[in-house]
Amino acid sequence: MPRGCDSKRICGGMEVNVRRLGRLALSFMVAVCALITLSVAPSQADEQYDPPSGTWNGKVVYMSRACHDRGSGACITNYGCDGAAGLTYSENLGSRNIIRKATYGGGGQFNLLERGYRVVIGNGLLQENINNSNARNIAVHMPVHSDAPGDGQLHCPGNDPSIFGTLGLYRYTGQRNCANMIVSHLGPMGPGPNDVMLSKTDLGELNYVDAVTCYVEAEAHTWARGVNWLREGAEDGGWSWALGYVIDDYLNCP
Ligand SMILES: [Zn+2]
Repeated sequence: MPRGCDSKRICGGMEVNVRRLGRLALSFMVAVCALITLSVAPSQADEQYDPPSGTWNGKVVYMSRACHDRGSGACITNYGCDGAAGLTYSENLGSRNIIRKATYGGGGQFNLLERGYRVVIGNGLLQENINNSNARNIAVHMPVHSDAPGDGQLHCPGNDPSIFGTLGLYRYTGQRNCANMIVSHLGPMGPGPNDVMLSKTDLGELNYVDAVTCYVEAEAHTWARGVNWLREGAEDGGWSWALGYVIDDYLNCP
């Protein structure tokens, strides 16, 4: 799969040829996408957002919303403790809101569109998001989840803060490199100190996505400070821009 914006640097003076190749690739993609539109009807359609005219960097990123359907045919959310409010934080809803802000939110730092990406937001079941991502030429596939360490969501206040933090999940080398960006760029922004890369072999989006999957477990929804921080990520001016920063750095963009 194409690795990203470093191709221009590698090609050096061959920029004209690179542009021609880009046009050819684009024509091919348009043709392929037309076919896909006719043949696939996902139950929850992907949303596509384009950067301002003339600013596309040639990369498409797939932002995959947490669903946790576990093969049931419907998304099943995880609830997180929310201080005095009780178990009111939904990981799935939070994932959707954070992804939307990362894509087109305001508040100062560049969102994904302002960084020049075409963004596809996957709203489907796990397998649908995998299939839809694999049907396109995706540069980075980014699932956005929150973690749930500790002794269960009903006992949040009793947990030791040192167990919380942001994880970059990976199985393969490319994924590991991007997981490293998650830990180094997003990790320090959250309240928990346990920001680490973690190897996983049982996640569909690490195993079956053709693009490089950059798997975010943004903090944990099993402690109140984590939930507060997750809510900030779903607001203008929050930290969601850092997801674009992670992708930029992984792809050597802009
Ligand atoms: Zn999750």
